[in-house]
Order: sequence, then C-alpha cells, then structure tokens
Amino acid sequence: MKTTKIVWTLLVAALLLGACAHPKLKTEREEGETGFTREELFGHLPPVDYEIPNDAQFLKGVKICLDPGHGGDAHIPRYKRGPTGVREAEMNWTTAQFLKEFLESAEAEVLLTRSGDEDVSLAQRARIANRAQVDFFISMHHNAASRESANFTSTWYHADPDYGPMNLDLSRYVQQGVAEALRLPEVAANPLKSDYLMYPDAGFGVLRQLEVPGCLVEASFFSNVIEEQRLRHPEYLKREAYGYFLGIARYVAAGIPFSVMRQPEPGARLQDKQPEIVVELNDGLRDRGGWGADRNWIFMDSIRVRLDGREITDATYDPQAKAVRFKVPDKLPNGVHLVEVGFRNLSGNHARPHTHRFIVACPIAQIAVTAKPTSLHPDGVSYALVAFEASDADGTPVADGSTLRVEAEGGTLEQFAVKTRAGKAHTYVHSPLEPGTIRLRVRGDEAEAALAIPVGRDAVPLIYGQVTQQDSGKPLEGIQVELTFPTAEEAGETLTLLEGAEPDTWIHYLGRRRLDKQVSNEEGRVIFAPKGLRPEAFTLMINQGGYYRRSFPVQFKDAQRTIALNLPAYPVAGGILRDKIFLLDPEGGGVETGAVDCRGNEASDLNLAVAERLKVLLESAGAQARLIRTEDIYLSAQQRVEIASNMQVDRYLAIEHGLAEDATSGVCFLYFPEMEGRRGAERASARAAAELGLKDLGVALSGDAKVRHAAIPASAVRLLTMDAAEVDNAADPAWLDREAYALYQGLLAQLGLPKEYSAMLSLRAVNAQTGLPLEGVEITLDGSLSRLTDASGRCRFSSILPRFYDAAARKKGYETFWVRLSAAEEGEYVLALRPEAE
Ligand SMILES: [Zn+2]
Repeated sequence: MKTTKIVWTLLVAALLLGACAHPKLKTEREEGETGFTREELFGHLPPVDYEIPNDAQFLKGVKICLDPGHGGDAHIPRYKRGPTGVREAEMNWTTAQFLKEFLESAEAEVLLTRSGDEDVSLAQRARIANRAQVDFFISMHHNAASRESANFTSTWYHADPDYGPMNLDLSRYVQQGVAEALRLPEVAANPLKSDYLMYPDAGFGVLRQLEVPGCLVEASFFSNVIEEQRLRHPEYLKREAYGYFLGIARYVAAGIPFSVMRQPEPGARLQDKQPEIVVELNDGLRDRGGWGADRNWIFMDSIRVRLDGREITDATYDPQAKAVRFKVPDKLPNGVHLVEVGFRNLSGNHARPHTHRFIVACPIAQIAVTAKPTSLHPDGVSYALVAFEASDADGTPVADGSTLRVEAEGGTLEQFAVKTRAGKAHTYVHSPLEPGTIRLRVRGDEAEAALAIPVGRDAVPLIYGQVTQQDSGKPLEGIQVELTFPTAEEAGETLTLLEGAEPDTWIHYLGRRRLDKQVSNEEGRVIFAPKGLRPEAFTLMINQGGYYRRSFPVQFKDAQRTIALNLPAYPVAGGILRDKIFLLDPEGGGVETGAVDCRGNEASDLNLAVAERLKVLLESAGAQARLIRTEDIYLSAQQRVEIASNMQVDRYLAIEHGLAEDATSGVCFLYFPEMEGRRGAERASARAAAELGLKDLGVALSGDAKVRHAAIPASAVRLLTMDAAEVDNAADPAWLDREAYALYQGLLAQLGLPKEYSAMLSLRAVNAQTGLPLEGVEITLDGSLSRLTDASGRCRFSSILPRFYDAAARKKGYETFWVRLSAAEEGEYVLALRPEAE
C-alpha cells in the first residue's frame, strides 16, 4: 500500500504571486524610509510643467470612463502589493484622480468606475461604461512579475486587432503618452498586447464585457524595487497621469470618425425588401472647419460595409454627399436589419463602431388560424388556445409587432388585438353556456381568416394547467408538464382504451404512464385533451430540470368535463443554477501521484466519485455539468487548461482530496482574484465545512495554473479527509454523497444563496395484484440508505439530497423492484410489487 502524501502548495502559490521577502536596502543610501535618494529615483526625468496643450481643446464634451484597477483589497495579505507593501489599488486610484483633473480642465466629461477604495466587480466596471455610452474606456493598472528587474509600460487590447481597430488607435496613443512620461529602463518588443496572451480565447473580463472602445494600461511594475519607491510619490503618479492625458488629447485631436445613416431614416419601417441604403461618413475632423475641411479626409480603400454581418462589395462612395450607398442585393426577410460601416481618416483613426438599424415590415397577406382543443363544452369554463400565423405576399413571416384583430361570435375572447412574434400570435376564446358554434374572424392589414369551433356535450374532457412561480405567482414559460394516468394494476381495473391512445409510446413512472407532455407557453398555460381514456384518475406532473418535480391529481366529478388547475412550480436552489454550465475537474488520474488513505483509496478516484455525484446534484437544480475526465486517465495541467478554455462554461471547480500535514480534516477553497472573489470562496468553504462537520480551513490564493487560466470564475476545493479518524473510510458511498452535497451547498453559498435546501422522499408499497399495502418492504436508496415500510405500506426518507436515487424495493416472496426516483418531488411514490411466480 502506497502512503504518499500530497505536499500542500499554498506556500508555493503565495510565492508565485509575488509574496517575496522585503528587499535588503543598503543603509548608507537610505533617505527617509525608502533607501533611495531623490536623485536615484527621479534624476533621469526632466521637469514637467503640466501645461494643458492647445490641441487638448478637442477634448471638450468627450465622454471618458476611467477605471482605476482593483480596490477594497487592503485586508488581503500581500495581494497586489510591492516588495515593501505599497498597494496597486492605491497607485491606480491616485493616478486616476490626477488624470480626471487634467481631463476636466480640458472640459472632457469623466466617469470613474469606483468612488474610493472599494471592490467593484469587473462586470460592473464594464457595465458603468456601457450604460453611460462613453466615447472610450481606459482601465488603469500597474504590473507585477516574478522577474524582479522587469519594468516597462504595456497597453492591452481585447482579442485580435480586427475585433476593434479603434481599440488599437486608442491603445497606441495612450501607450506612447505614458511611456514618454515614465521613461522606464525597458521597452517591450511590442508594447501593444492582446489580452488573449493572458487568457486565450477569453481575454480580460473587463475588456471582454465592454461595448464601447477601450484598453487596459499597465503603466509600470510595482514588483520592481526602485519603481515601487517611485510609485509611492504622488508627484510621480501625477507625471504618469499627465502622460495618459497627453496621449488621450493627441488621440482625440487626430479625430474620431463616425457615420450616420441618411437613408432609410434610422429605425424606419420599410415595405421594400431591397431598399437603397445611404450612410454618411464623417472623418471626425471636418466639423472643426478650417482650410481644406471640404476635402476628402478618408482613406477610400478603408471603407467596409456590412449588412447583417455580411460584407457588401459593391457599395460606392459619393464624394459630394460624403456618403456610401448600395442597393440591398437580395430580398431581406421581415424584421430588423443592421448596417455597419468601417473606415479610417487621414490620421489613421478608425471609425467609432456604430450599427445602423432599420426594419423591413411588409403587409400581412395570409393568416392561418388553428384552435386547441378543436371543440369545447357548453360550460362557460372551457376555452381554446387560438393560434395565428401571419405571412406576407412572399409567404415569409411578417415583422415582429404586426397587429392582428380578432372577433368572436358565440364565445368570449381574452384579447381582441394581438401582436406577432416570429410571425406568430395567439389569444384564448372561452365557451358559452349553450351548445352551438364559436365563429372566429381575424384580420391583419389586407388579409383575413376565419375558424369555427363547435361547442357540444360530446367534446373530449379538458384539463387546463397554468404553471406559476410558487413565490411570486407569475406565469412560468418553458416548463414541461406531463399528463399521466395509473396503470391497470394500480387502479385495480382495466382502463378502457379507445382510438388515439398509443400504449407503445408511454413512459412508465412507477405504476403511472405518461400519456402526453406539453411545455407551458408565455402565459404559463398547458391544455390537455386526453382523447380516448376514462378521465377519472389523471395526474399532472411538473417535470422540468431546475424545478422540484410535483404531481397534481386531476379528479373529475360526476358529469364534469373540464378541470382547471394552478400548477405552482418551485425552483430548486431558488433557480440560480438554472442554465449555468459547470466544469468539474476531478484532480489526478492515471499514474497515481496523489494521496492514498489507510484503506488504499486513491485521491483521484475519490475526486472523480465526488465530481460525478456533484454533477447529478447540479443537474437536478437545472444546471449543466461537465466532467473534465470520466475515467482514471492522466491529463496534464496544460491539457486541463485547454479543455477548460475550449468549453463554453460559466464556472470551473477543481476537486481534490488530500492529507493534511497535521492530520486536521477540513475544507479549503482556493480562488484566483481576477476571476473569483475571495468573499465567495470564504462563504463556500464555511458552508461546505459546516455541511460535512469538518473544520473550515478557510481560503487561499491559488497558484494553480488551471484556476488562474481557465478564464472563467474558477476555484478549487481541497477536502482534507483522507487520514482523519472520524472519516477513515473515505470510499463510503454515503460519505461521498455528503461531500458532494457539501460542495453543492458550497457552490450555492459562493453564488450568494443564503438558504439551505433539502428534500424528502415518501413511498408506499402495494401488492401489484391486490393493491393492498405491503408491510416490511425494505427500500434501499443507492444501495446504502435503507428503511422498512410500516403497516400502511409507507416509509419516508427525510432531509435527503434533492436529487435522483436508484431505489430498490425488496420483500421475501416478491420480485425485487428497481426504480430511479427524484427526491425533489412532493407527494408519494407508489411501488407495486409483483408476487413471485410459484
Ligand atoms: Zn492590476
């Protein structure tokens, strides 16, 4: 048996992140606290007069968002600090304050992403700029590296140059301004850098989420001993800010080109599917007037026109109107269309990205109308969904928002006017109290259509459901509702099967069969017309990932033919996991190098077992989960980073079991600050530890390549359990369940969900032949958790994980019953056991 131990890498991680020892400074050089003389620090820099240059006049009215990087991180030891502890967040802040003053003295409008030393998320920073629709955004940072002498200025743009050429114009000017001001000893071979170099195919979170032009500047390296000392002087930061200012002023002075759509009018609704488009190009300079302002200041071959993302090659430039024009080559579908024009002015500045919008809306020529159900009862309660499909003369769907007017004779409409979406619209018509016919008529533009709905006592039974959010009562769209009915065995009788019932397609649910399924529409409604079955004992069941499975009995009384039910749906975990995609990475695999417990269980196997269980939990809460490996195979860190980067996922979690040096069992979350906040990780660690009854070992900065380079919110968790006395059998399935559940709760806590969720499972065992309750049936969940049924045939598992279980029901003299059950469901499952054949 191997007894290798995992060496904890926390210390290594801290070292990688720049937690170096304080530098030794020679005492004879000391001046104040810094150890450097003024001459050594600033002797190479010429004096600055901080004058506002003449060409800064063009900054007037320009809207700029400044983003001083980081903030609110003073409590984190060694986080983004220089060798003697100077904080990056502070230097970024001070520089931004100086820059704001310079820009405002030139009458630019300045917006800051933080108002002090506070933690603002990257998404929020981008949102501030997007909402204000600023002309451009500059994220202001200082750099760090493990190479102590590193010190140069670099400016970062998002993705590739073609992603936003304007970002590179801005980057170039700002880079030059800052580099000129600071005169650092090193020069990068190419100081303009793509953020894909750091996070392949993702880039920096703040730049990725920008909808306005922007760049990120790393002015100098605070990890450099002498540079850090310069950066503690406000006058040095003012010099840096002045460099930014000159760069920005020169960029704006060179003119920021833009375009304006002249024909059709922006936002116009056209009936022409092949209109002529005219877009005026402005070089960003000519409105200033002056000599030659009437001349052409645009590079002709730089003009590129796109319609709905497709390149238009035969657009022509009209120098008189200073506009490009083209006729749309093929007939456009009804709806919104987008025109983009890119070009460059004579200073080389690219046009501000702008998308011009117009709408093609041809009149309605045909309307198709259908009703569900096709006949109604004369009860004043039943109703039909009336659906319309509207198309134009070419047979293509009409533009969204086209109006249809509906009339009903002999019935009551819910809406008389409806608007189309993707050519479709619907309303509801309610039945009268007397038999007869409802005559519907619908009109839109020049088109008209009619439909008759018979109202009679021979109509099929109708079951109406409206799915609503349990707490708010709001209708829920897109929820699958199933109509089930009991099997003959459970009902204790033979069901009359008539035309339309297709037993082969039924899905069995423990003594119930699925007859039909529907997905709730915009109003949360579903309508079942179960043709061909005796209607006494139906059940509607909400069966949708992310929602607790719930059953609603449908009880028809006497001559009743219509039933309407409210179907409140309760989202698992408050719905916050719905549609989120998780990537779970069970550490290790293949050639075992990790920990092994006293019983020979390898950490990599446990990691995988817990990840598989966590996947089930996440899926039952409506999330998607993927595993980076599903077998005992070796993957390098590099391979894992690549897999994580290439998968479109929202969140990454590495799972690791280990042995603590001091045999303390506990939970520790690792995070990387650019991607995931410390507070979230702290909450996750605390919740997971509490669930497991283990010690909360807190959080640590991750030096893990995968966590740092996954380019998505990423964390790793370490479960220190393998040699702890109280959990000596880590391979116990019940313990692995608990671990998975603890991590699930940890993730919920990390996402800010305060509540705890658990579920229960109620079962009743009956004799499949007699329908009588069976006492003493042993029900086992996942081969571990067992209960015996009581005299009424019932048993109950409470406070269990809200997920699916493989259950077995055993009793001597009966065939063993295997079934997959969801503990998220309310109500009772009935297990019908067949007596063994003699
Ligand atoms: Zn930074």
